[in-house]
Amino acid sequence: MQNPTSSPLTTIWIKHPLAALDSAYAGGVVIRDGIIIELVAAGQTPASNIDISHDASQQVLLPGLINSHHHFYQTLTRAHPQALNKELFSWLVSLYPIWARLHPAMVESSTSIALAEMLLSGCTTASDHHYLFPAGLEEAIDIQIEQAARLGVRVHLTRGSMSLGKDQGGLPPQSTVQSEQTILDDSERLIQRYHDARPGAMVRIALAPCSPFSVSTDLMKASATLAQQHDVQLHTHLAETEDETAFCLRMFGQRPVDYLESVGWLSDRVWLAHGIHFNDEEVQRLGKAGVGIAHCPSSNMLLASGQCPTLDLEAAGCPIGIGVDGSASNDGSNMILEVRQALLLQRLRYGAARITHQKVLDWATRGSAACLGRDDIGELAVGKQADLALFKLDEIQFAGAGDPLAALILCGAQRADRVMVQGRWRVIDGQICDLDIEAMKARQRELAVQLLT
Ligand SMILES: [Zn+2]
Repeated sequence: MQNPTSSPLTTIWIKHPLAALDSAYAGGVVIRDGIIIELVAAGQTPASNIDISHDASQQVLLPGLINSHHHFYQTLTRAHPQALNKELFSWLVSLYPIWARLHPAMVESSTSIALAEMLLSGCTTASDHHYLFPAGLEEAIDIQIEQAARLGVRVHLTRGSMSLGKDQGGLPPQSTVQSEQTILDDSERLIQRYHDARPGAMVRIALAPCSPFSVSTDLMKASATLAQQHDVQLHTHLAETEDETAFCLRMFGQRPVDYLESVGWLSDRVWLAHGIHFNDEEVQRLGKAGVGIAHCPSSNMLLASGQCPTLDLEAAGCPIGIGVDGSASNDGSNMILEVRQALLLQRLRYGAARITHQKVLDWATRGSAACLGRDDIGELAVGKQADLALFKLDEIQFAGAGDPLAALILCGAQRADRVMVQGRWRVIDGQICDLDIEAMKARQRELAVQLLT
C-alpha cells in the first residue's frame, strides 16, 4: 500500500472527527512537518492554509497510544504449553531455558510482529525490555532498532540485563546471564550509537536490569550511575508478586522499595513495570520521588499477580502508564484492548465513578509518555509530535453503541483504521503501509515451532 503523504511540508487537516479524546480538538488537528500546528474547535475551520483534508467524520480521534512495557521476543512463546497455568516464578523457570535458545532471526521476527500488532491497535510509541543476550545474540537491540525503523514506530528500547544466575542465588539459569562489565560496556555502546535526546526522537535507549531476583546489587548501582552520566531513563520490574517481596527479604534483608532506594533508584529517571505490592508508606515515597509505574493489567491477571494501586500512586505523585507486558504473559500486544483491561481491573479496586474511559485513555497516552520521560508525545496539542490513531466504529461489536469515545473502550475496539507517526500514515484502512504481513506471520510461525520442539 502506498503512503499518500506527498511531502513532509504538506499541511494536513484531520477534519471533523466523529469524536475526540479532548474537546479542544473536536474539529480536528492540523499537521505540518510531523508536528501539530493547530487545534480546531468543534464545527470550526482551520486558520492555516490546508493542502489535504482527511475526512474523519466516521472515526474517533485519539493521540497515538504509548506502550510503556513489553518484551517483543515473547511473541514467539505465546501460550507456550510449558508455561500454561503458572504464576510468575514457576512461569519464568519454565520459560528461561526456552528463551536461552533465541537467535538473531528470532529477535528480528518477534520484534516486527510485536511492532506490527501494536501499530494496528493504535500504538505509535513502544517501549521494549530485552534482557536476553545468549551467545550469538549480542546485537539484539541493534536488530530491534532496524525493525522499528522499517515499521516506522517510535521506540524506547531498554538494554535489559541479568547478572544473578542460579549459582549466585538468582532465578535464571547461568547460560542466560552476562558479566557486569559486558552489560555496562554494551549499555554505553548502545547509548552512544542510538540514543537521541532531541524532541521528536524516534529512538531512545534506557537501561533496564531485569528484576531484583535476576540482577546483582552492584549492577543496579552501576546502571544508575551510567544512566545519570548519559541522562537516560532507568527501568525494571518491581513489586510484581509476593514471591518477589519474600526473595528480597531473604536475599537483601529489605522489601523491594527499600532495596530500590539503597541502590540509588528512587528518582524520576525511573519507571517500574507492575508496581503492585507496596504498602502505604512506600506509595508515598515512590510518589515523592516521581517514579513512574507501567500498569500491565492483562499480565497481572494472567499470572494472578495482583492489582496495581494506580490511583493511590498517582495521588502520591507517580505518573501511571499502561503496558501490554510480554506476549507470553498477556498473550497479545494489543494496546487498545489493554486500555479496556485497565478499566475493568481498576474498577474492581476503585469503583466505576473514579475509573472512567477518559482516565484509562489518559494513562495510555500522557501517562505512558511521562513514564518514558517525554513531553513531546502523548497528547494532541500545538507543537507536539503528530502521532495519532483513528478508530472506526463499523464492526459488529459497535452496532447500537451510543457514546463513540466510550464505545471504543467498553465495546472492545481491537484495531485502528488509521495510524500516523511523526506526520506519516503508517496504517491505512486497517493495514500497515508497505508491509507483507502474511509473509511475516508465516516466518514467525516457523521460528516459534523451533522453540516448541
Ligand atoms: Zn515484563
